[in-house]
Amino acid sequence: MNRRRLKIWARIAIEWKLRDEQNRAGVFNMHMDLKRIKQGFIRLIRIYPLIAIGLLIIAYLLGGFSEQSNPLVPRTIVLGMLYGLIIVVPLLAILIFVGFSVSEDRSRNRNLKSLENLPAEDPFDLAQEEMCGFKIVSLTGELPIFTGVTGDTYKNDENAICKEFPDHVPPVIGCECGFYAFKNRRDAQFELSIHPGLFLIDVDLFGIGFSHKYGYRAESQRVNSLEFPKRCMRCKVLPARVFIKSYKIGYGNNVWWHWSVRCSLCVKGVKPENRLTIEQMSQKLNVEIN
Ligand SMILES: [Zn+2]
Ligand SMILES: [Zn+2]
Repeated sequence: MNRRRLKIWARIAIEWKLRDEQNRAGVFNMHMDLKRIKQGFIRLIRIYPLIAIGLLIIAYLLGGFSEQSNPLVPRTIVLGMLYGLIIVVPLLAILIFVGFSVSEDRSRNRNLKSLENLPAEDPFDLAQEEMCGFKIVSLTGELPIFTGVTGDTYKNDENAICKEFPDHVPPVIGCECGFYAFKNRRDAQFELSIHPGLFLIDVDLFGIGFSHKYGYRAESQRVNSLEFPKRCMRCKVLPARVFIKSYKIGYGNNVWWHWSVRCSLCVKGVKPENRLTIEQMSQKLNVEIN
């Protein structure tokens, strides 16, 4: 039987009301635009070393570092630029990051407060919406299993459980339980670029769900497919070919298995029992791998 049909898609309509009210107050949009600004800022920071080296090379070529009495670029400007690149810009970046986290905390508290005042609504009256999303996971365990960024493990089709309050049926207002996913593939890809070694998956969420501009938090989740990384996670250059498992030492004596992908060169020396082909991995996880 097709399990997809057994599940219902529902979204909490009250979230839309809440969002409309917040839109009027201009609160919601501000917070959400912040997320995009932050993404752009982090991208900029990644290319910062290149910008800095470029500026230094230009200064060097224009004679800023030479002993000539009359260089094209005066020594004071070169010195000022060096101080700026090494001290001022990084300091500014740190301040901006502090600013981001302060405003994120504020808007989280504000959202929690507004959520506490939500009226109870009959779930059967809720608007229905297909909740399809993207997220990043690691693959852990001797037998591979999905592991979310919070450390919770799950199979290809699961109901969320609340670790903190066992009587919760996630998602619960005011709690963080439930399966999360981005609506937009781009946001998941950005997260992947910050967390190398993880994988991008495509999921469908079911049951009661909270919806906001960028994502969902819902009751149950089915993983549709996993995106096979293009490059080897070791050399970062050659195309990835196989999955391999290796162990990592966790807290205490806790040893856990961690799966990554390797190219045909970097896989040499890995014992055959610690390798899985894409097809084998797809069978073990019971999801498509593209
Ligand atoms: Zn909970
Ligand atoms: Zn490699």
